[in-house]
Amino acid sequence: MGGAFPPKAQRCFCIILDMEPSEINFVLPFFHYFGICTDMITINENYMKLKAGYLFPEIARRTSDFHQKNPQARIIRLGIGDVTLPLPIAVVEAFHRAVDEMADKATFRGYGPEQGYDFLIQAVIENAYKSRGVGITPDEVFISDGSKCDTGNIQEIFGLDNTIAVTDPVYPVYVDTNVMAGRTGDADERGCYEGIVYLPCTPENNFAPAPPKEQVDLIYLCYPNNPTGAVATKEALRQWVDYARANKAVILFDAAYEAFITEPEIPHSIYEIEGAKEVAIEFRSFSKTAGFTGTRCAFTVVPRELRAYTAAGRAVEVNPVWNRRHTTKFNGVSYPVQAAAAATYTNDGKKQVRQLVGYYMENARLIRTSLSELGYNVYGGVNAPYIWLQTPNGIGSWDFFDKLLTEANVVGTPGAGFGPAGEGFFRLSAFGDRENVQTAMDRIEKLVTF
Ligand SMILES: *Cc1c(COP(=O)(O)O)cnc(C)c1O
Repeated sequence: MGGAFPPKAQRCFCIILDMEPSEINFVLPFFHYFGICTDMITINENYMKLKAGYLFPEIARRTSDFHQKNPQARIIRLGIGDVTLPLPIAVVEAFHRAVDEMADKATFRGYGPEQGYDFLIQAVIENAYKSRGVGITPDEVFISDGSKCDTGNIQEIFGLDNTIAVTDPVYPVYVDTNVMAGRTGDADERGCYEGIVYLPCTPENNFAPAPPKEQVDLIYLCYPNNPTGAVATKEALRQWVDYARANKAVILFDAAYEAFITEPEIPHSIYEIEGAKEVAIEFRSFSKTAGFTGTRCAFTVVPRELRAYTAAGRAVEVNPVWNRRHTTKFNGVSYPVQAAAAATYTNDGKKQVRQLVGYYMENARLIRTSLSELGYNVYGGVNAPYIWLQTPNGIGSWDFFDKLLTEANVVGTPGAGFGPAGEGFFRLSAFGDRENVQTAMDRIEKLVTF
């Protein structure tokens, strides 16, 4: 029975109790009895620190409650961050052709390179970077099945003692994956984890906070931003790049909404800033750009110049470390999906993607102008498919949610769900049908004033 303790624990007991190994067997059953140190499987307790996925389940609960009590109400959902239009024709055709190749012995493909096929990597380099004056080499591009996974997994290759900085409100993936890894303490009553530096996004800083005074090591930035719809100017990004170079920090730049930028002076890539390749990793996705949320394809750029440091201060190239991680834990995106993704960069593909994005951005314009005319303070919606509105008279995000749901039958997303600085704000998504967006705006216009 005493043997059920691992040998290491038994040796510890011997030392603590000053007993011979032969004697320790007498006392081990007492330890068992009091539940002290057994050899059962233990859980990663960092997961216990996670706040329950509260936001979207709570929205669903309130919506379904209302629907049950008011089955006749036609509810319009402007809350989700998912696309609604189908894949562009050029993409679908390439997808079909690739599937047919897989059906023929002569053109069948098994495992591809874990980092992605060269045809897609070349298309990315030409169209996403070279066209904007940024030089990227093929070994810097890693094709994957999504930016959620990449932004979630990237922290693995950095030390556990790094200080993390995020904007507030924030895409929860950045925070939760660091909690799981053990880089934080517990969450406080506002949902902020001990050890993470939160940078509040406010109207005063145009929802693009400047670098902090203190040292932080791993910085998550997302521009155009989900949920605020804000963008970072070249000058704002330059401040971050300078900060990272001066402080030997790394910027994780999530550009999932890059395709929605309409203002010409806004940078599409952080690498448009001089020196950024020394300090930044960039994440891009076909999800929102080309309707790939259910098809799954994205890519991450890890420049050769990027360095991180050993505890002893030795500089280490980050690119081969991510390559090792990626090739060990990931086996590549399917060939038809990569062929479909590459089709977004053909002439027809580009035109159709622009139409797709244009449709959503017209929704965004409609929401923006309607709400502005009604006197709301609205942000975003110009370079991003999200409109971030200030709730009238300072009412709470969730109270505004309830009012919109019950009086206009419109579902949005309470800003407080993305972080404490989101309180007093509300996100409306431009993904959806034009007619629904129009109807939603008409209904909001008829809302009794607050
Ligand atoms: C939608 C979204 C992504 C894209 O995730 P995929 O896994 O590529 O679908 C990345 N970052 C943010 C902030 C998003 O909203």
